[in-house]
Amino acid sequence: MLEVEGFTKYYGDLCAVDDLSFRIEAGEFVTLLGPSGCGKSTTLHAIAGLVEPTEGRTRLRGDDVTDLPPEKRNIGMAFQSTALFPHMTVRENIEFPMRNNGLEVGDRVEELLRQVRLDPEVHADKKATELSGGQKQRVALARSLAYEPDILLLDEPLASLDYVLRKRLQRELADLNEELGMTFIYVTHSLESALLMSDTLFVLENGNVIQT
Ligand code: ADP
Ligand code: MG
Repeated sequence: MLEVEGFTKYYGDLCAVDDLSFRIEAGEFVTLLGPSGCGKSTTLHAIAGLVEPTEGRTRLRGDDVTDLPPEKRNIGMAFQSTALFPHMTVRENIEFPMRNNGLEVGDRVEELLRQVRLDPEVHADKKATELSGGQKQRVALARSLAYEPDILLLDEPLASLDYVLRKRLQRELADLNEELGMTFIYVTHSLESALLMSDTLFVLENGNVIQT
């Protein structure tokens, strides 16, 4: 599904990632584990096309996408900050980007909300500001799943949630990965989280995989 080969990123003189290579099979739940500053976000952003590599190639399903813009890669992203529009309802937050991208809405919002374990009857017409932190993350996740991406990138999306809720959402993410058969790449500095969810775990140190 994805092959990162020799990814290197310099920000000026600072080497954020140094000659990183790995492969990911379709449907896998992969975690990039490493301490803060080791280059996890930089790597995810390069996969998404948001960071231009200094060196290295990225291949999706065998095609070289290194020079493709983000919108041509069919990759979804979820971050710690959900960036929901506060004045819009849950439904509007999911429909708005779908419409902008010419996607058929139909019953998709209901289906997506059920996939992230939110009851549409209860939550679809709430304003984003009326949601808890965990519910906001569920909505943000539903919004990124709307595009049916080949790969979903998750950059510590649960880091701000309390322990119990975080554990629950981690289990649900692992279930969702299986249910959808979608490839997930999760980034975290928590070994416990990584072990709970992953099929494959890459341990990063100073921008390099030191253990798989
Ligand atoms: P992680 O996500 O593992 O915490 P990052 O990928 O965010 O690590 O950062 C890796 C290194 O690159 C850090 O030293 C960070 O300060 C640096 N860095 C990240 N983004 C930028 C940027 N836009 N400009 C300059 N330095 C950056
Ligand atoms: Mg980061």
